[in-house]
Amino acid sequence: MERNTIDQTIRNLRERQFEAFFADNKEKAISLIEELVPQGSSVACGGSETLREIGFNEKFRDRFRFLETPAGASPQEAKEAIRARFSADAFFLSANAITVDGRIFQEDGASTRVAPMIYGPDSVIIVAGQNKIAENEAKARQRVKAVACENCRRRGFATPCAEDGHCHDCRVPGRSCCTSVTLNFSRIPGRIKVIIVGEDLGI
Ligand code: SF4
Repeated sequence: MERNTIDQTIRNLRERQFEAFFADNKEKAISLIEELVPQGSSVACGGSETLREIGFNEKFRDRFRFLETPAGASPQEAKEAIRARFSADAFFLSANAITVDGRIFQEDGASTRVAPMIYGPDSVIIVAGQNKIAENEAKARQRVKAVACENCRRRGFATPCAEDGHCHDCRVPGRSCCTSVTLNFSRIPGRIKVIIVGEDLGI
């Protein structure tokens, strides 16, 4: 990815009141997170291969207070744990795609990842590899669907895309992409922070 394209994306994100940063690599992204989120903060994460690849949990296990669903939780306890994400000091996730014009595209199944992104936590931090940048909305939507198909394949879901790698706009119970969200602007300036990492991360 050309650095010019990344810089242009960051400028456009900022115009939309997202606080946007560039980190050369995973290590710089970790340092930036340490600057942005005070020690002892309560944090929650939306499922993310990118966060796994930067070693988020291992790096921050002792620095932050993780809001997680406890092992062996009953359905009611699990529901309460997921609802607690809405009051986290900081909510972390990645993006499925970010367009050069500064919009962020997400798809989700149960919506437990996108819901706290939209409303709740005081701070939302999106960590995205440079590979998430898409030239325009059409390319972003293509990317989002390709990611959904790949996720289904990896996780062995009973969806047609897991078989052939193409989206069929399926109507099966195991559909993984039920909600599509586009962030066009952050009404609260800087509530949503975007760290673009100069490496390919996630899928
Ligand atoms: S709509 Fe169905 S087929 Fe298309 S990507 Fe989502 S799960 Fe796969």
